[in-house]
Amino acid sequence: MRKIGLLGGMSWQSSIEYERAINQIIADRLGGTASADLLIRSFNFAEVEALQAAGDWAACADLLATAAISLETAGAEAIAICTNTMHNVADSVEQRLTVPLLHIADATGEAALAKGLECVSLFGTRFTMEMPFLRQRLESKFGLRVITPDNDQRAEIHRVIYQELVQGRFLDESRDFVLGVMRQQLDQGAQGIIAGCTEIEQLVTPSMFEQNVGAPYFPTAALHARAIAHWSLGD
Ligand code: GLU
Repeated sequence: MRKIGLLGGMSWQSSIEYERAINQIIADRLGGTASADLLIRSFNFAEVEALQAAGDWAACADLLATAAISLETAGAEAIAICTNTMHNVADSVEQRLTVPLLHIADATGEAALAKGLECVSLFGTRFTMEMPFLRQRLESKFGLRVITPDNDQRAEIHRVIYQELVQGRFLDESRDFVLGVMRQQLDQGAQGIIAGCTEIEQLVTPSMFEQNVGAPYFPTAALHARAIAHWSLGD
């Protein structure tokens, strides 16, 4: 089994679910007392959020790259950034490593392609919905067309993520709002929904989405965790 370095805590609400999912897949595969071989750096999200809000992506890149290099030095054979938004600095982190970076968009894009989809709607922070880092990779590498909710909806989704979800508050009214926007996006041409924020799939779980909406749904943390576990197993 290959040792993986995880950059987590962005937020810890979802990175503990990464750990759980990776361990579960490896335990199921190998049986007995087997569990994942992980090196974890969990950040104080308040510091990360302040840098994001200031638009200081160079400092975000330095923060993650420094941690990733220390995990590589400690023996990590690949690095994963356990959040969508911070993939804005994934290229810069990857350039400073000699081991691969397992990109969240690749796990997501492959799942959308496997369903034969052409157009997906991307839900996440304003950064993820409005900056090119995920959209471009999904479009250029997987040939997907990516749409997003409208400006007011993006603002509210962003508020829900930072003021509720990353703080562990999963409210019914926010779930109803997000589900309503997801339905609208399907009416507007999306064939599937990308939960492109690792806490959105905790607010709207795959089973809730299936019950309430019933279209292809791509929970990025679960898909990324699965890809990480399979890479560790050498699949
Ligand atoms: N975890 C979230 C994401 O997947 C949002 C928190 C962050 O800004 O990193 O984008």
